[in-house]
Amino acid sequence: MSNPLLDQWLARRTGGASTPESLAAWQLEQVRRTVAHARENSPFYARRLAHAEPQAIATMDDLAALPVTRPEDLQRDSDAFLCVSRDEIARIVTLRSSGTTGEPKRIFHTRGDLERTVDYFAHGMGAMTRPGQGVLVLLPGTTQGGVARLLGESLERLGARPELFGPLEYGSSQSVDEAVDHILVHGVHTVVGSPAHVNVLARAWQRRGLGRSTIESVLLCWDSVFPAVVRNVEQAFGCRVFEHWGMVETGLGGAVSCAPDSGMHVRAADILVQVANPETGANLPDGQWGEIVVTTLSRRGMPLIRYATGDRGRLLPGSCPCGHPAPRLDRISGRLCSALPLGKAGTLEYGVVANAVYGVDGVADFSAQAVFSNPAHGSRHGPALRVGLSIVPGTDTEQAMAQACAALKENGLCNVEFHVAAQGGPAEPGLAKRRITNANGIGAHEESCQGNRSASGIG
Ligand SMILES: [Zn+2]
Repeated sequence: MSNPLLDQWLARRTGGASTPESLAAWQLEQVRRTVAHARENSPFYARRLAHAEPQAIATMDDLAALPVTRPEDLQRDSDAFLCVSRDEIARIVTLRSSGTTGEPKRIFHTRGDLERTVDYFAHGMGAMTRPGQGVLVLLPGTTQGGVARLLGESLERLGARPELFGPLEYGSSQSVDEAVDHILVHGVHTVVGSPAHVNVLARAWQRRGLGRSTIESVLLCWDSVFPAVVRNVEQAFGCRVFEHWGMVETGLGGAVSCAPDSGMHVRAADILVQVANPETGANLPDGQWGEIVVTTLSRRGMPLIRYATGDRGRLLPGSCPCGHPAPRLDRISGRLCSALPLGKAGTLEYGVVANAVYGVDGVADFSAQAVFSNPAHGSRHGPALRVGLSIVPGTDTEQAMAQACAALKENGLCNVEFHVAAQGGPAEPGLAKRRITNANGIGAHEESCQGNRSASGIG
């Protein structure tokens, strides 16, 4: 499988880069331009990169030697990143930290930045939709420059039919049933949404005994993707599952798969991805897990140089069978801050809980809360977790809880308390990145996490 549209897009944007080597050379030239532009126009980078000589950046290692930019730098003074006058800014996105303290980050986009995002979406979506087909979008942001609106514009360019449904509503299955009806009435071929919401939709589809459908492909985006969700969606709709990674800081689009299980090709004309050791900042070779660090290549309004995203990921070694030259990210395994420290017992990864619970029949969604205020208290008898299940209507609740309990036990999590949090709808309101929260609803490990990284990812 390949996506010729993505190949065309990359060739047009890079002046014909068609091999990993020619692409890297083109990207390094853009890095030098970006560093020069940022040092000249952004007060933050004038200070931070005062000693960095743009023309001396000849290799990816030279780039990796530059200091990282952290979300806290943006929080402290977003305006200090601006490289153009305010008149040129078409959209400002304000991102609040999930913690209780700290200023919000503001990300500035020029009209050109937004256009490049629409252009990228229009080509990336070419792998999963064709002219004339309906695309159900379960994402927010239908106002000018919002994510659903930008995706809608890109689908129209492709000749496809965007159906901007919006996120599913927390709790009951009413909005889920409306989404299912929408698919049946309008003959939708592609669904785009967060893994949690698409899983909810897949369970409702099965509950209604609908079997195979018009849906040919699903794009999971916005949050970490778990194998159990991919399986559920494939089984419910009999479709291909694609994945996307990105965040507001990357200009929403960041990387997209060319085929199911292909890894996600980085949006190489607009961003350069490196993977760094989160403690030392040192660059890691392909294949090793670390923190995803992004350098923007085309952003004029607010370039970011070695921006540490807080997402845990790795670049896949080797080339993709599709022949597209851009590097590929493996499935994102979550936020660096999403694991709960359990003293001598190690850590508890959100993904472990997600895979176990999403794998239980009749469970549409879940929320997870750490019960103990001091993580070490949970370690003696295993972690103390409170899990709220969204149970598909008509399911034997006791049986679903027993199965979820057994699935978690298999992963060494014995001390878990269950309750019913929703009836077939999403188990959490809104579309914040999913994680284990504490009693205040904050990422349980996030407040103390190194660098106070915030859960800001979108896309
Ligand atoms: Zn590929």
